[in-house]
Amino acid sequence: MALNVIGAFARKGGSLSQIGVRNIASLASLPETHQMLYKTVRDFAEAELKPYAAKFDKEHLYPKEQIQKMGELGLMAVEVPEEFGGTGLDYLAYAIATEEISRGCASAGVIMSVNNSLYLGPILKFGNQKQKEQFITPFTSGSKIGCFALSEPGNGSDAGAASTTAVAKGDNYIINGTKAWITNGYESEATVVFATTDKSKKHKGISAFIVPKPSPGLSLGKKEDKMGIRASSTCSLIFEDSSVPKENLLGEPGMGFKIAMMTLDSGRIGIASQALGIAQAALDCAVEYASKREAFGAPITKLQAIQHKIANMSMQLEAARLLTWRAAYLKDCKKPFTKEAAMAKLAASEAATFVSHQAIQILGGMGYVSDMPAERHYRDARITEIYEGTSEIQRLVIAANIYKEYGL
Ligand SMILES: Cc1cc2nc3c(=O)[nH]c(=O)nc-3n(C[C@H](O)[C@H](O)[C@H](O)COP(=O)(O)OP(=O)(O)OC[C@H]3O[C@@H](n4cnc5c(N)ncnc54)[C@H](O)[C@@H]3O)c2cc1C
Repeated sequence: MALNVIGAFARKGGSLSQIGVRNIASLASLPETHQMLYKTVRDFAEAELKPYAAKFDKEHLYPKEQIQKMGELGLMAVEVPEEFGGTGLDYLAYAIATEEISRGCASAGVIMSVNNSLYLGPILKFGNQKQKEQFITPFTSGSKIGCFALSEPGNGSDAGAASTTAVAKGDNYIINGTKAWITNGYESEATVVFATTDKSKKHKGISAFIVPKPSPGLSLGKKEDKMGIRASSTCSLIFEDSSVPKENLLGEPGMGFKIAMMTLDSGRIGIASQALGIAQAALDCAVEYASKREAFGAPITKLQAIQHKIANMSMQLEAARLLTWRAAYLKDCKKPFTKEAAMAKLAASEAATFVSHQAIQILGGMGYVSDMPAERHYRDARITEIYEGTSEIQRLVIAANIYKEYGL
């Protein structure tokens, strides 16, 4: 296993989940191990991500060296137990680390989040021993990354309407169809793919497969030219009579939709954390700029209009962080967290959009040009309201759970 600095912290104090996290009110109230993790990842992001994030964004450069270093720190497989090469920390630790990475570079944040939550997560939960050895262990060190292929050109929110098919033939399944918008699509060396094995059962006829890349009959579509998170790749995966061994079926036939939904519950905590990192970076930028910028003979921090903006930005950010940490904590306690993860993702993504919008306003003209990072934070924030379930879908999930609580 690669040098795993963060795992060493956890070993010093025993497993983080054993320590128990009972007070999530603030970073200072968390166990020492979480605070050390925060500081380590923060220092890493300050030194290795923040100075290069603008270049990565401008040139659409995959931050290969940095992802490798993140792997060495144990950040590419935070929740994976050490026996499979991971770091063996809890989900709250993962949320804290994802926020700090995203504060330095939102693209690195989503690359990390997809590998951890969307690729390794379902294999860890539903995979057998052989699948874990083959498709988890080599993907923990940052040298190989994975992706998650659910969306299609014809359906995103309505994931149960998948038109990609998988037909059993001898020892293989033959997959046909196109998966759209796949994060890490270019660099990934394996993907969890969802395809219909029994159309008559609608969403209950969807199955999940682990497909290595390259694979026969699997090609990549064009790299999308995105508004933000431009250092992470997004492309379609095109399956044309693509053959995958039957042993690569994840879980049982027909379990795919359930696997996808459970994976997204956890994934949403990762995206909420990414959004928090973007919002925090925008707030940092706004406060720093305001403290130096003078208007009418004094720093603009003295203006009440600016103070109100800073207060509202901080309040939304901190409220969203509490929701995110609560969702992670519930997951760590093995309690239901679907509603809480949806609330966290909704609140954090809307906070990121709001805070980054206000940051531009505080910077005035300098907020609108790429000399300062505010405009990048604004562009990066926007996607967090769309992927892993749009804000409209999060509201549906929250309302459905609230109705359940009322016995409706
Ligand atoms: C940069 C990027 C990266 C992505 N990465 C991945 C990835 O790695 N893997 C993957 O599988 N997918 C990925 N996606 C896809 C993403 O999850 C979908 O774009 C998203 O789920 C929305 O689906 P859609 O684009 O088809 O929009 P649609 O589902 O067509 O929705 C269009 C609009 O209708 C609204 N709407 C739809 N249904 C309802 C409803 N029932 N009630 C209220 N409003 C509704 C939506 O909220 C939205 O406003 C990515 C997308 C992007 C842009």
